[in-house]
Amino acid sequence: MFHHVAPHHKDRLAINKGLEITPETLEHVLLSLKAQDYDIVPMDAVPERLAVSGGSRRFAALTFDDGGRDNLIHAAPVLQRHEAPFTVYVTTGFASGTTAPWWHVIEQAVHAASALIINAGDGLRRFDTSDQSKKQRAARTLHDILWRASEPVRASLASELAAQARLNLAALTRELCMDWNDLRQIAALPGCTIGAHTMTHPNLAALDEGAAMREISEARDEIRGRLGVAVNHFAYPYGAPHCCETREFECARLAGFATAVTTRRGLVAQGDVHSLVSLPRVPINGFYQQPQMIDALVSGLSMALAAQSAPISAKLRNGWRRPTESALKQPKPPGHHEGRAAITSQPAP
Ligand SMILES: [Zn+2]
Repeated sequence: MFHHVAPHHKDRLAINKGLEITPETLEHVLLSLKAQDYDIVPMDAVPERLAVSGGSRRFAALTFDDGGRDNLIHAAPVLQRHEAPFTVYVTTGFASGTTAPWWHVIEQAVHAASALIINAGDGLRRFDTSDQSKKQRAARTLHDILWRASEPVRASLASELAAQARLNLAALTRELCMDWNDLRQIAALPGCTIGAHTMTHPNLAALDEGAAMREISEARDEIRGRLGVAVNHFAYPYGAPHCCETREFECARLAGFATAVTTRRGLVAQGDVHSLVSLPRVPINGFYQQPQMIDALVSGLSMALAAQSAPISAKLRNGWRRPTESALKQPKPPGHHEGRAAITSQPAP
């Protein structure tokens, strides 16, 4: 699971840092998959791969959520160079500029303003955003407030923040997300699959069933209509257990998707052929871009240990390389602690 791919820039705030890796890290992921003898397959091939009994080769499917414009500019050239198939899950409201990704609105507003005031339901709250550490702190608190808010309140708070910081939401969304022309370009690249990621990127579990179903199926219809491609794969916004459960899985199945992915961490295994609409993923996280960490993640060992789903010895036989002593002693990346807090308290978008 990837979100954004862009060159490192020092002003990235911790709330979004985990969502972005550099093109060099993406390249390392691809080299590591190759070195560890994985097949890189499109999402269309996943059901078949999971149905093969007894000893299918190890495989990976590369997925990008939200339709970031950097996917076209920075990720696609790397993927094309390696002839690696990939899937982009598109939120149609981002592509049309009618919905803004609120977690980026917070970051941009905090960068642009020296103070922000919002009414979070318990009176007015003022956030001092006059220097970098105050911006980090304010962004974390605002992220927490917006994350806990209901869908309409979240959207109105994001608009309020944008207005105070004099941000043009449509221009911001255009800068961050692929529009339909960009999507036509990326969809035409060899190996690119376009999947759906709802219309407005809501927490589906917070919607009534009809609204959840519309978010899922109308996004598919719009992408199909505008790009003229089959849309057989879906990603749940936020994707954590309290954001998509049995009801949402059933909606994705009824909408006719061949697969749907969550943000639950884990490896897919043969048994998942029976749960193709609730597949787990391995997040490639901007806080952990050291080559040794990528190699370990790609090996699947940490995921396997976490899920206790496979004996260690089997994973070791399959090519996990132990990190070197010096790698284990490397200092943690800057922002490590804020990042962990930000990542573990809210699911990835
Ligand atoms: Zn998302």
